Amino acid sequence: MGFESQKERVCKLADENREKIVSMAQYLFDNPEIALEEVKACAYITDFLRKEGFEVEEKFEGMETAFKAVKKNGDGPRIAFLAEYDALPGCGHACGHHMIASMSVGAALALAEVLDTYPGEIAIFGTPAEETGEGKVYLADRGVFKGYDVAMMLHPNARTTIYPKMIAIGGMDFNFTGKASHAGTYPYDGVNALDAVVLLYNNVNALRQQLKDGTRIHGIILEAGKAANVIPDKGVVRLEFRAKEQDYFEEVVQKVVNCAKAAALATGCELEYDWFEPVCKGLKSNRALEEVMEEFFPQFGVDDFILIDGGSSDIGNVSWEVPTIEPMLGVCEGEPGIHTADFRDATMLPYGLDRMIVGVKLLALTGLRILDNPKLLEKIREEM
Ligand SMILES: [Zn+2]
Repeated sequence: MGFESQKERVCKLADENREKIVSMAQYLFDNPEIALEEVKACAYITDFLRKEGFEVEEKFEGMETAFKAVKKNGDGPRIAFLAEYDALPGCGHACGHHMIASMSVGAALALAEVLDTYPGEIAIFGTPAEETGEGKVYLADRGVFKGYDVAMMLHPNARTTIYPKMIAIGGMDFNFTGKASHAGTYPYDGVNALDAVVLLYNNVNALRQQLKDGTRIHGIILEAGKAANVIPDKGVVRLEFRAKEQDYFEEVVQKVVNCAKAAALATGCELEYDWFEPVCKGLKSNRALEEVMEEFFPQFGVDDFILIDGGSSDIGNVSWEVPTIEPMLGVCEGEPGIHTADFRDATMLPYGLDRMIVGVKLLALTGLRILDNPKLLEKIREEM
């Protein structure tokens, strides 16, 4: 059987499994769980995969809500699908991760069928806590993606982007410690942490003009005094940084640390700083792999293309270990932005569900191309 007949087989399976895939999405949608608390989601998906004959490892690498599921047939291309399933605090699956999990599971299910024809491995990694940037960073740090030939997932969005740019992100807390004192009677005895907070903020504002396009620094003041008549002895600024290139990201972080040091020096405060969230690297794009998937978009009538830029995700860390793609798939007829209630609700409308099955096929067929023609991996690997 050649590629075309296997393709027909995979697509037919994706359609036949529609009810199972939609039920999974509905269950996750109805039971939203935030980062690292995805207990029900993880149980539902792993039970499902086990029943479908996958070898399942729960609490993967010691992470309570991570899993790995595998089907294989001898030595051949090793294809990994990534599943996210965490929701947003307070607004459910407004980032559509219920669809990500369902599409990846659906794709693995359909593609695993052709392992009777092709040698290779189909794996699904359950990667929790995308919203807080924890799951994939933790798993990538433990080297679990090494040895796979490709990793992929689709992210639902209002519109479709085959080549999204995802940039590095990380965040630090800057803690200034000064000395409290009566603001009216003994102000000269005080060391003002609020001043340090303000100076840091202003220093960063001055820095902005000298930063490369696409760089972002955004944040909040977490603490800056409790009473107007007391010189504040504690000030905390929480800042997040984003930059397009990994090297430059590190440079930006150093520049902001210098802004904080200057504020500490000027006010006499002591400074401590540390990451409050893991650093997610920028997505190392793999054009050759994106092109493998690109072929299939028009075949399913997907033409709502738009350029989506500037997001960040922990998938970035996977992409430095293994060739990785995360195209965005439009799942809405309107244009609600992700992380809104309108987007969340649109994902379960008939249009969204139809697109979810298209997503299953896009992922599965990309895998099929590689199983059918492992030579494609040479070009894909070259980009690493
Ligand atoms: Zn998301």
